Formats: sequence, structure tokens, C-alpha cells
Amino acid sequence: MSNECHRLTDRVAVVTGSARGIGRAIAIRLAEEGAKVVVADVRSEMAEEAVATIREAGGVALAVACDVRESAQVRALMDAAVSEYGRIDALVSNAGIPSTGNMAHETNEDDWDRVIAVNLRGVFLCAKYAIPHLEQSGRGAIVNIASTFGMVGAPQSPAYAASKGGVIALTRQLAVDYGPRGIRVNAVSPGYIDNDMDARRSKMTPEDWEVHYAARERAAGLQPLGRQAQTSEIGAAVAFLVSDDASFMTGVTVPVDGGCTVTFNLGLRGGRESKVDSR
Ligand code: NDP
Repeated sequence: MSNECHRLTDRVAVVTGSARGIGRAIAIRLAEEGAKVVVADVRSEMAEEAVATIREAGGVALAVACDVRESAQVRALMDAAVSEYGRIDALVSNAGIPSTGNMAHETNEDDWDRVIAVNLRGVFLCAKYAIPHLEQSGRGAIVNIASTFGMVGAPQSPAYAASKGGVIALTRQLAVDYGPRGIRVNAVSPGYIDNDMDARRSKMTPEDWEVHYAARERAAGLQPLGRQAQTSEIGAAVAFLVSDDASFMTGVTVPVDGGCTVTFNLGLRGGRESKVDSR
């Protein structure tokens, strides 16, 4: 594979929600760095396609159908990884879904449960069933994909924000409990990502999506780095955290957000010339 960095040779990584989007980019990056990757997703066909892409580039990968909400399926996922490759060195819990974007008093209770089940229970279950294998690795690493919405408040996302805040707290807790057993646990919080997750997942009309996407691009443009991220930029951060280059890092949440969580957004970016109202 093309990447010059080979920090993960001989390691086995399980990446959830990796049939597409950010997870797919993470799986590709880990494979480029030499890891054998288990591509786990509810979308089996797309997972097979992601595996084919990795193999065509010379990498090693296996697709496993898995719904991270279901403990039997998560346990079977870890068993499949060990049965195929003999070990698990890294778990990347990336599978996640957005909420419908309402205020708390308007939030449908089923929607709340659905978001928490995938985004938080799923991360817990994957950790629970991967940890015994990660302990045996001797250099086990977990990277949970959180969100800037779990770090700072954003309008109308109570279920999603609570789920991602929970992921960040769980990351710290696991780091405390399993550091002494040789497992590092960190999280990555993506900011605005150039990925059409929201369009595919929500019930927006095309017109509403246009408005939403324009607002998202404008908001991203206000951040210090002034753009949305590429999914590969999340993959790069995850590869670092999995690798020995991050050997003394545990319990942290790394924002990969173009600076969106460190700026007090006054509608300005950089110097006077980037005032929003002058565009
Ligand atoms: P995508 O929807 O593009 O990809 C997620 C994949 O996970 C899809 O294939 C999805 O299937 C799958 N999935 C959903 N539910 C489950 C489940 N229960 N078990 C296994 N797989 C499942 O999402 P993104 O790549 O955009 O997001 C990935 C992660 O990054 C998520 O945790 C998200 O919250 C987080 N994130 C994303 C940001 C963004 O701007 N995109 C910003 C910040 C964080 P299906 O399509 O059927 O749902």
C-alpha cells in the first residue's frame, strides 16, 4: 500500500462502522500502515467493497457483518478477528449515527434510545468484548470516535451530544481501569467532516439538505483552519494514536477539528479581511 509510514506491521485492528465514511478512511489508513484490518459494519456489501479496495492496494482485510448494539454480534466480531488473524491489537469504535436534530422537549424518545444504543452502548460493548484480547496483545489500544458535539454545546443535538459526551467519559474511565493492564484508550473528536453522513442518514428533503450543507460549510469556514476536514485526516490521527508513537498517551480526547473547539466564534477568522459580513 502507498503510505510511507509502516507503524502497524503485524498488528490486527478491528474498526467498526468502516464500510464507508470516516471508518472506511481509518481502515484504509491502518491497512496502509501494515495492520490487518477487520472491517465491521451493518452494511455487509459495502464492507466487502471496502475490503476489496484494501486488498487491491496490497493490504490485508476481512469484512464482518456486525451491529454494535447487539452483544452476541460484537462477541462474534471479536471471535472472527481472532480466528482469522490470531489476535487483536487495536479497536477503533467508530460506528455512530446522528440524531434528528431537535430540541430536547421535541426529541422523540425512540430516537434518543436509538442514538444512545449505537453511539454509546455500541462503544461499551466493543470495548467489553475486545479487552480480553487487547490485554493479551501487550500493546493494546482503543480509539473511540467521539465528536466536537460531545465537547462543546451545539444547537439541537441533545441525544447525539449526550452520546458523544458519554464516549469521552467512557474513554477516560477505560484508560484509568485498563492502563495498568497495558491497554491505552483514547478518543478522537472530529469536527466538520466532508462526508455526506447527514444527507444519507436524516429525513431531510433535498432542499433542507442544501440549506443545512451550506450552513455547515459556512460554519466550517469560520474555524481557524477555514474548511471541513477530509476523512483521511481522521484516519491519520487514529493511526498515530494506535501506534507506538502515542505510547505514553491514554485517556485523552484529541480534537481533529480545524480549531473549532478552541475558538470563540465571533464571525471572524484570522485577520480583518476574513470578516464574515464582508463575503
Ligand atoms: P457514516 O454514516 O458515513 O458511516 C458510518 C457507518 O457505520 C455506516 O456504514 C453505518 O451504516 C454504520 N453503522 C451505523 N450503525 C451501526 C451499527 N449499529 N453497527 C455497526 N455499524 C453501524 O458516518 P461517518 O463516517 O460520518 O461517522 C463516523 C463516526 O464519526 C460516527 O461515530 C460519527 O458520529 C462521528 N463523527 C462524524 C462527523 C461528521 O461530520 N461526519 C463529525 C464528528 C463525529 P448505516 O449507513 O446503515 O447507518
